[in-house]
Amino acid sequence: MKGQSWIVRRKTRQIRVGNVLVGGDAPISVQSMTNTETTDVDATVAQIVQLANAGADIVRVSVPTMDAAEAFKIIKQRSPVPLVADIHFDYRIALKVAEYGVDCLRINPGNIGKEERVRAVVDAARDKGIPIRIGVNAGSLEKDLQEKYGEPTPEALVESAFRHIDMLDKLNFHDFKLSLKSSNVFMAVSAYRLIAAQIDNPLHLGITEAGAFRTGTVKSSVGLGMLLAEGIGDTIRISLAADPVEEVKVGWDILKSLGLRNRGVNIIACPTCSRAEFDVIGTVNELELRLEDVREPLDVSVIGCVVNGPGEAGETDVGLTGGFSGSMLYFDGEKHEKIPNNDIIDRLEKAVRGKLAEREAQHAAAAKGAERLTVKNA
Ligand code: SF4
Repeated sequence: MKGQSWIVRRKTRQIRVGNVLVGGDAPISVQSMTNTETTDVDATVAQIVQLANAGADIVRVSVPTMDAAEAFKIIKQRSPVPLVADIHFDYRIALKVAEYGVDCLRINPGNIGKEERVRAVVDAARDKGIPIRIGVNAGSLEKDLQEKYGEPTPEALVESAFRHIDMLDKLNFHDFKLSLKSSNVFMAVSAYRLIAAQIDNPLHLGITEAGAFRTGTVKSSVGLGMLLAEGIGDTIRISLAADPVEEVKVGWDILKSLGLRNRGVNIIACPTCSRAEFDVIGTVNELELRLEDVREPLDVSVIGCVVNGPGEAGETDVGLTGGFSGSMLYFDGEKHEKIPNNDIIDRLEKAVRGKLAEREAQHAAAAKGAERLTVKNA
């Protein structure tokens, strides 16, 4: 069962955001957004680097003014990942950042005003191969749609989306992705399901303004989990009233828990009970912190006693099962050695890093072998 995914992804048209492919058979990308002042170039670049190190594939930056657009030019040059410029209403800002090499424009064509302005932005995007993200949000639904539907509904969100989509269609521009966000899980899920049945553009998933760290994580996991399990969703952003680095970590954890992507150490731990032979909770928390730098996927089980320990160790790369006179360390499901219960964290970290180094050496040897074969056959 290990590594197996039961999810059949919806087929979508692929777009390119800088060097990241979105849609089609591309991996589901993880996004976040800076919350620094964009005009503070150093702070914004520092946050983008932090987000990229945490695993963000794409980062969105607000560009509310022309000064911010000037700052964006430098930020873009220093960013290690593709950037989406978030622009509302002012088409001149969109033209400016397009000139400065933005990787994607988050702008709603219906909010730019006159047709010539929409055409100017779309022409610039087309010329430079920049995709657009249409972002419909229940909190900023058009007044007439609010009146027509009485309140924001999934159908209202979809109708709003089609207003923007139709404008791009008229200009023969199809290089876009779409989000339909609401802070209400059911509204967002229903809206995404409705639109997924009608267009083949990639979908950017998110539960907007989901809340503080814990509640926002739960809401986002439930909402995105429902959609992703149905194969809907090509890129995700978790909106949390928290450090955006947490958004990236939660995004990855959602994808990892569904077997859609893998990154870093995946720790399986028991909740503990009176049978636990060592401090499982303390060990797991400390281990997660110490192994945050790891990008290679590796499964590790940390289990308090023999009730479930050997079984879990059989499914993981590195396993630990608590024992009265010392805990058993497993490699690839096989017993490796007994380690003292007062030295578990250091020994586990060493074991994990050793396993990673061994894997790296195997990959390097395999790559060298393949290279030799190519030269021989040339
Ligand atoms: Fe308790 Fe052992 Fe189960 Fe952990 S694995 S919860 S220690 S019985």
